[in-house]
This record gives sequence, C-alpha cells and structure tokens, in this order.
Amino acid sequence: MSTRSAAQPKSLFIGLGNMGRPMAAQYAPAFPSWVFDIDASVADDVAEETGTLALPHLSALPAGIETVILMLPNSQIVENTLRGEDGLFRQLGSGALVIDMSSSQPDSTRALAAEASACGIHYVDAPVSGGVLKARTGELSLMVGGSEDAVEAAMPHLESMAGAIVKAGPSGAGHAAKALNNLLSATNLAAAAEILCVAQANGIEPETMVDVINSSTSRSQASEVKYPRHILTGTFDSGFAMDLMIKDMAIAMDLIRANSIEAPLVSRTSEIAAEARASLDNERPDHTELARYVENVNHTTLRSSR
Ligand code: NAD
Repeated sequence: MSTRSAAQPKSLFIGLGNMGRPMAAQYAPAFPSWVFDIDASVADDVAEETGTLALPHLSALPAGIETVILMLPNSQIVENTLRGEDGLFRQLGSGALVIDMSSSQPDSTRALAAEASACGIHYVDAPVSGGVLKARTGELSLMVGGSEDAVEAAMPHLESMAGAIVKAGPSGAGHAAKALNNLLSATNLAAAAEILCVAQANGIEPETMVDVINSSTSRSQASEVKYPRHILTGTFDSGFAMDLMIKDMAIAMDLIRANSIEAPLVSRTSEIAAEARASLDNERPDHTELARYVENVNHTTLRSSR
C-alpha cells in the first residue's frame, strides 16, 4: 500500500465484481481512487488496469477518504461493511459521502442513512440498470434516493458512470425503484420466452419473432438486447447472475406485500424464477437462463439459425 500523502486519493470504490470492475474503471479517471474487494487479487488486478491503488483491508482506512462507493452483492454485506467497530461509519469523518450503488433493500438503506446522518455522513442510494455492457461504456441508468444535500453532493460522482440519472425520492426510493424495475424486467424476459415458444410451434423462427417484437408494441430491453445477444445465441452470458435477479424480485415482492397490492402477474414471475433456479443444473446460472427454463418445460430450444 502506498504511503504517499500529497496524491492520496479521496475516493474508495468497494466491490469489484462483474459490475464494480468496469464501473471503477469509468470512475477513476474523474476521481482518483482506492479500490477494495474481499478478493485481494481482484483489487490488485483492477488497480493495475486502472491506475488506482489497491487497499488490502478496510479495518484501517488511509486518511483523507471523503467518498465511498459500494457495489456489493446485498444489504447484509453493505451493513457489515458500514457498521461495527471497524465499520466505515466509525472511520469516515463528518462530511463524508457514502453512495450505495448495489441493489439493496430499501428498509436497510433507510436505517443506514439515519445512522450515517447521526455521524454527519451523507448517504445516497444509487442502484444501476443497464448491466455489464452499459457499465463498460459509462452509460448506466441510475435511480437515486436520498436527501437533497446528499444527492447534490453525489451527483458529480454519479455522472462519471451514468447515461441517465433519475431522482427517485428520499432515502430508499432508489433501491425500491430498482427492485421494482427488475421484477418487471424479469416478467418481460419470461413472457417473451413463452411467446417465442408459441411462435416457433407455429412455424415462426425465434429470430423472426424477435424482429416482429422489436418493430412492434411489445418490445423491451429483453427483446432488444437479451434475446439477440444472450439467449438466441445460446450463450446465456449477460453477467447478471440469476441469484441476484431473484434477490431483487424478493425485495420487490416484499414491497408488494407490505402495501397489499394485487399483483398476480409479477408475483407469478417471481415463482417461475424460483422454479427455474431450482431446476437449472449449473452452479451460478445467468439470469437469462430464465428463458432456458421456459424452453425446458416446453421441450424446445430458442436458437437463432442466422
Ligand atoms: P458480483 O457477484 O459479480 O460481484 C460482487 C463483488 O463483491 C465480488 O467481486 C465480491 O468478491 C465482492 N465482495 C463480496 N463481499 C465483499 C465484501 N464484504 N467486501 C468487499 N467486496 C466484497 O456481482 P455484480 O454482478 O457485480 O453485482 C453487484 C451489485 O450490483 C449487486 O447488488 C447486483 O444485484 C447489482 N447489479 C448487477 C447487475 C449485473 O448486470 N451484474 C446489474 C445491475 C445491478
């Protein structure tokens, strides 16, 4: 670890997986950064690639860190990172900014934002949409929750990774919006698989039906991107794990139940996703394999012949 003080970065990016890695690469040119991942070899690689500094552990932060960006698997890991004796809330100074870009639980986010506020720390939820492709190009769509002051402070950091930014509301609103978006997105994906199976049984090739959908009223990001790139190719390689999608769907279902909303259609999609996860044989299926599950139950495959 470097001990230079004059050029010490003021930002710390935590979580360098499928999304965090390309996001940190977009962020670092604008905001010189430390990078950290629980897998130290990943942090070393990212530091090498991006000219950032790898932090070996979080238990003693270097001085001068003003902004922390989190891109972690779930709320439990976010909480463990921020709370407790060695947690970042204890270590960061008053006036610091924490931005959770993970897809986290809104109730956890609101509790963390209140704890941060008691320490004089700004807390913003800014989950992302657009997947690995948009993370690589710095064109992610962000949905942002937090107080006006906190969101204003976060904006330059967010802009370095975003193509679109929507202010969703107070703390937790970004995370709620993200989970709801992903429940609808999964519904689009599963519904398209069913329709393509019917089309194919009627002599319409999957890629032809995708062309019809994409030039008609039922198009979606699933039909425009996921089917052509990751499903009709049989590669199932979007970089968004099915388990993470199911986590998002569970968060959305909690919101539906908490508000007693009648939502049988999307509720059924979350059941289908659970059935798919149980039936698929690989260890870490991609979320696009939801379509493979629909193929399997219909004893067919949806592949392009072009
Ligand atoms: P991932 O599993 O590829 O990466 C997670 C990274 O976090 C890994 O490198 C892991 O080693 C690291 N990590 C785990 N525990 C840690 C800890 N305690 N401290 C530091 N690092 C730790 O996940 P991902 O696909 O990059 O997703 C990250 C977040 O973004 C998730 O909340 C996910 O739901 C969300 N998201 C993912 C996508 C996508 O397309 N992959 C799109 C939008 C949102």
